[in-house]
Amino acid sequence: MSRFYITTAIDYSNGDPHLGHAFEKIGADAIARYRRLRGDEVHFVIGMDEHSQTILQPAAEAGLSPQAWVDRMASVFSEAWEGLRISHDDFIRTTEERHVRAVVEMVERTKQAGYIFEGTYEGYYCERCETFKQEKDLADGRCPEHPDREIAWTKEDNYFFKLSAFRDPLLKHIDEHPEFVQPEIRRNEIRNVLEEGLQDISVSRPQREWGVPFPGDPDHAVYVWYDALINYLSAVGFPEKHHGDWWPAQLHVIGKGITRHHCIIWPAMLLAAGVELPKTVWAHGYINWEGRKLSKSAGAPVTLTSASERHGPDPLRYFLLREVPWNGDADFTWQRFDDRYNADLANDLGNLANRTLAMIHKYRDGVVPSGEQSDLDRRAQKTLADYREVMDGYLLHQGIAAAMELAGAANVFIEEKAPWKLTKEPSRSAELDTVLAGLARTLARLALLLSPFMPGKSSELWQALGRQDELSQLAAYPELDLAGGHVQRQAVLFPRSES
Ligand SMILES: [Zn+2]
Repeated sequence: MSRFYITTAIDYSNGDPHLGHAFEKIGADAIARYRRLRGDEVHFVIGMDEHSQTILQPAAEAGLSPQAWVDRMASVFSEAWEGLRISHDDFIRTTEERHVRAVVEMVERTKQAGYIFEGTYEGYYCERCETFKQEKDLADGRCPEHPDREIAWTKEDNYFFKLSAFRDPLLKHIDEHPEFVQPEIRRNEIRNVLEEGLQDISVSRPQREWGVPFPGDPDHAVYVWYDALINYLSAVGFPEKHHGDWWPAQLHVIGKGITRHHCIIWPAMLLAAGVELPKTVWAHGYINWEGRKLSKSAGAPVTLTSASERHGPDPLRYFLLREVPWNGDADFTWQRFDDRYNADLANDLGNLANRTLAMIHKYRDGVVPSGEQSDLDRRAQKTLADYREVMDGYLLHQGIAAAMELAGAANVFIEEKAPWKLTKEPSRSAELDTVLAGLARTLARLALLLSPFMPGKSSELWQALGRQDELSQLAAYPELDLAGGHVQRQAVLFPRSES
């Protein structure tokens, strides 16, 4: 059994969860669920980045201490992920003691290795990104992520991390491990940044109010990004020896806007401290609203709550992962959501389930007959191979597409075999058995294939087919047999939407 440690970026505690946060959790959750389905031992971690200076203002306005504020936000986020059936094994918060001690250890090791020095930072600092910006990164003299705000010229005494020392080792690592930065387009970007050369970065801020006190100099706090990235290690018990049970991570799932932090700064931090590098960083794209990143489109009439309540959490998961390629961007529109819901889920999948259950009741008293393997079974075996290949490569949208093509093939199979004609000819009873048994197996296989994307609805379908056991192993797929099982009369998985 292989071990699979998967993480998402941890979320800032300064605002409510939105669809962009949800997209990343849902995608990572589908990967975690798929790996469990494959039989891997999975550890899936999400969490909160709580030492941001940007929480101080909303906390003060709400009359709360910074800690009380982040406690409240952590429960708001947790609740949202529960509602979307995110199956994380741990929820790390950077204000936890287990995290703070990991940060202290990383700074100490890096100091001892000679990669931390004192200096003066002078340059631009975006308070919202909490990132130091170079002149060439600005657009019209402002932060491109926050064009509505003035960017501050800052001069302060800091501790620096000798990032420049890691340019060559990182280039070498990326060239020798093409899987390290994915998808390909992001790897090329990172390579270009490295080719241009790296500057040393500040890893402290001169303040005492909020953050991890800098080891050896409590007048400074550890810079929030340096602090936050370490969550991937602290969540698995670093610096205790047992962190090696899960580390190195197989996969960090992040948004494409923070690749430099994850594909340059983070691995350099690890190299400096003598810790192994994660296997892959996967940078997904964005959900846009009218061409702009949704989370930055002021006034976009879609919230996580409205999207989730539209057709329920499973259809939202399905829609986002089907519509937004896991290696690209796509627009969110209510029309597309409703169309996909009705066409893919209510029609293709929902009708297939209802017709099959109804026929098994009408022609075979609700008991799945035993029947020979048919073309549909052979088709399903090919689907499994395709599905595994794309899912192993994290191409989630293609995994869903492979499953839904099988649903389409099953609908065509019904039309071609016309069970309503077969039932009128007693001599063709075995043929009818073959058709009904094949359809029942196909539905059960669809429940397996779709369970990473729609865990709730897939379970309902599995149970409607008379299965009492847990829907848990892809290994059951090739030999799946439902003969003798009692199916439910109907399964209204996706009631048609008129909105
Ligand atoms: Zn900014």
